[in-house]
Amino acid sequence: MLTLEKETFKKAYENKYKNLHGQEINEGSNSQKYEALGSLIKDYVIRIWMNTNKNYNITGEKQVYYFSMEFLLGRLLGDVLLNLGIMDVCRDALADFNIDLRELEELEQDQGLGNGGLGRLAACFLDSMASLNIAGNGCGIRYKYGFFEQKIIDGKQVEVSDNWLKEGNVWERKKINKAEIVKFGGEVKVQELNGNLTFTHVNYEPILAVPYDTPIVGYENDVANTLRLWSAETVYNDFDYSSFNRGELLKAIEYKNSVESISQILYPEDSFYEGKILRLKQQYFFVSAGIQSIIRHFKKYGGNIKLLDEKIAVHINDTHPTLAIPELMRILMDDEELSWEEAWRITTNSISYTNHTILAEALEKWPIEMFTKLLPRIYMIVKEINRVYCEKLNAKYEGQSDKINRMAILADGQVKMANLAVVGSHSVNGVAKLHTEILKKEEMKDLYYLYPNKFNNKTNGITHRRWLLKSNQELASLLMETIGDSFIKHPTDLIYFEKYAKEKGVQEELNRVKIKNKQRLAKRVFNKTGIVMNIDSIFDVHVKRIHAYKRQTLNCLRIMHLYNQLKANPSLDINPRTFIFAGKAAPGYYLAKNVIELINCIADTVNNDPRVNQKLNVIFLENYKVSLAEDIIPATDLSEQISTTTKEASGTSNMKFMMNGAVTIATLDGANIEIKDEVGEENIVIFGMTAIEVLNYLQNGGYSSIGIYNENKRVNRVVGDLINGTYHKDKDRFKSIYDNLITYNDEFFVLKDFDAYLAAQDKVDMLYRDMHNWQKICGINVAHSGIFSSDRTIQQYATGIWGSELIYKNL
Ligand SMILES: *Cc1c(COP(=O)(O)O)cnc(C)c1O
Repeated sequence: MLTLEKETFKKAYENKYKNLHGQEINEGSNSQKYEALGSLIKDYVIRIWMNTNKNYNITGEKQVYYFSMEFLLGRLLGDVLLNLGIMDVCRDALADFNIDLRELEELEQDQGLGNGGLGRLAACFLDSMASLNIAGNGCGIRYKYGFFEQKIIDGKQVEVSDNWLKEGNVWERKKINKAEIVKFGGEVKVQELNGNLTFTHVNYEPILAVPYDTPIVGYENDVANTLRLWSAETVYNDFDYSSFNRGELLKAIEYKNSVESISQILYPEDSFYEGKILRLKQQYFFVSAGIQSIIRHFKKYGGNIKLLDEKIAVHINDTHPTLAIPELMRILMDDEELSWEEAWRITTNSISYTNHTILAEALEKWPIEMFTKLLPRIYMIVKEINRVYCEKLNAKYEGQSDKINRMAILADGQVKMANLAVVGSHSVNGVAKLHTEILKKEEMKDLYYLYPNKFNNKTNGITHRRWLLKSNQELASLLMETIGDSFIKHPTDLIYFEKYAKEKGVQEELNRVKIKNKQRLAKRVFNKTGIVMNIDSIFDVHVKRIHAYKRQTLNCLRIMHLYNQLKANPSLDINPRTFIFAGKAAPGYYLAKNVIELINCIADTVNNDPRVNQKLNVIFLENYKVSLAEDIIPATDLSEQISTTTKEASGTSNMKFMMNGAVTIATLDGANIEIKDEVGEENIVIFGMTAIEVLNYLQNGGYSSIGIYNENKRVNRVVGDLINGTYHKDKDRFKSIYDNLITYNDEFFVLKDFDAYLAAQDKVDMLYRDMHNWQKICGINVAHSGIFSSDRTIQQYATGIWGSELIYKNL
């Protein structure tokens, strides 16, 4: 652990500042001060980083490689300071220079290389692996432009590109000497040599994959692991522009652009499959570079390739990196000259796969024609994997061609990535108990019967270091005052807080902490938007990607209902509420964008109606991202987790909210079920359809939203309000939402759950009236949140899937 005196730190900072900027500290701008701080902290980290790598090479412990198309890290400075154990020293030292650490932290661009939950999970996992002394590496793409920046203009989402690297990135280090070549296109020449077939890839287009490494610092344990992100470049050094005639020059520039486009943009569709060739290129690009560099590193330190699976584990986050399977096969056979059988044993032993969704529209499948042109050798291998596998299927399920077709990797002219991922790995896990059960019994039931031992559950988690210690320092202090600090290394020790949560004095403290966090959020919102938030109202928060299955629409209809009630009776006896929304819609997802506009129109209407605006306010905060989540979540009273049951695989913001002392209103979906099991029914507000009811409707039909619309007066009224001009003078403005509910029979059962949701909200209103009881519930939620630390999740992956040696040297 780093020990650092304030005076030493001050001197180091001053030196760093002067060397970097050639002036005195007080003459500089805040961004210069941030740059100097980041650069200094990175110097400290680099020593730990070098040591960690040295140690790994000496101990030769098993290396875990977490492959993910997305890493949603957010800002790093605060987390690095916290994990180094120098947050306080740094804050105090800077204060002596009249610098506010928090102000500098805000200057860091969010590293937004992900869409939402899946990418944030990868980031939490990196933090937990480093903190648990697991030799865990991240592997992904260094997108030049991260997730788009969302602006709200006239109530509508407008997308602006996120040029996050514009001012540089102090945390990354380019490693040009570790670049790899990735090959696209061309043909495969098959030759016979001494009775063996050899495969030579010719006429391909080479792309240079250049790694940028970022250290991932563990919590006070002298570990810094590596996140390696790949960037695409041309293999040729800078063009000699003078030697080109005009036509050649233009072609050369075009070529350069087309190469660099591979790591240019993050696809903004979440839980949605985009069949674009560039996306397939991205997938193979980082997977091939990643696997090649793993093998190169392994061999450099004298590893015996036949023991590879004892020394490395490759985990694929959803199907996006599934080509790791044929890529590893290719290298083991074509370069290392192992037999098919040996290569297959090593590959399947090394690779494990996490499934993240059962939404049909998210299932990845590539047209064979596109696939084989882009990746001819990889296609040959996939075809052979499929042939061997289908032989087995044919023997087992003779004559059941539908079933075999469903289970095959190649079928209907497509490469089915989920099937390949299951067949080519030794472990398939879901991300919450219900989700895993649905995988086994419904979505992947054929594969489950074939490989029952591969399937397992690993309920998601979040790092309590970022989401509690760093982003809710007030609450963390209260916890340390009451139960000590053992929960930092053993998050389930939070349970000791349960008895304190029952004390009136502590409940008042919890209330004070919440108010402070609400004030801080309100101040930020005011500074950014000029909107004044009512601190005395319930902060009722619905923040996540905008998606039909997450049912922002249900919340909207409920607010519209409340508005009608309040208009009819302005003295209605309810707690004032502020409904807070945030989230991005995929740019091509019309319905989701329409929902954003609806929320903003509702906000416009109710906030400006003096009959109701003392009790009812609505606000949409633009550009939801990790740093904004860190501001909102500690200030939340009520957490909205109202997805259609069975559709949200796990959810992770549900865990962040409970850990920060919010009450949850939820359907029995994803990890909400496990949250309920932990805190008990009296400490969460549950409503809505059960999984069995939903699955029953989906399989047998029988649901009629029009029936509900015709019979239920309250539903009839609010659905009618969507198209009668109440919220927009153009009555057709929200027609797509209306059609979705009525014309297309409400795929996500919004109307079906409407009454139950209203009743649950009434219950929330009753509970909130007793501050002490409410805070008791909040406190019990905090006390039971430890199990949802990603440290627990990662320990389960490590022991149950990766076979890492857990060294609890600092635990
Ligand atoms: C945690 C998190 C998510 C995931 O939220 P869900 O409600 O679980 O979908 C998405 N985006 C950001 C920025 C997050 O921090």
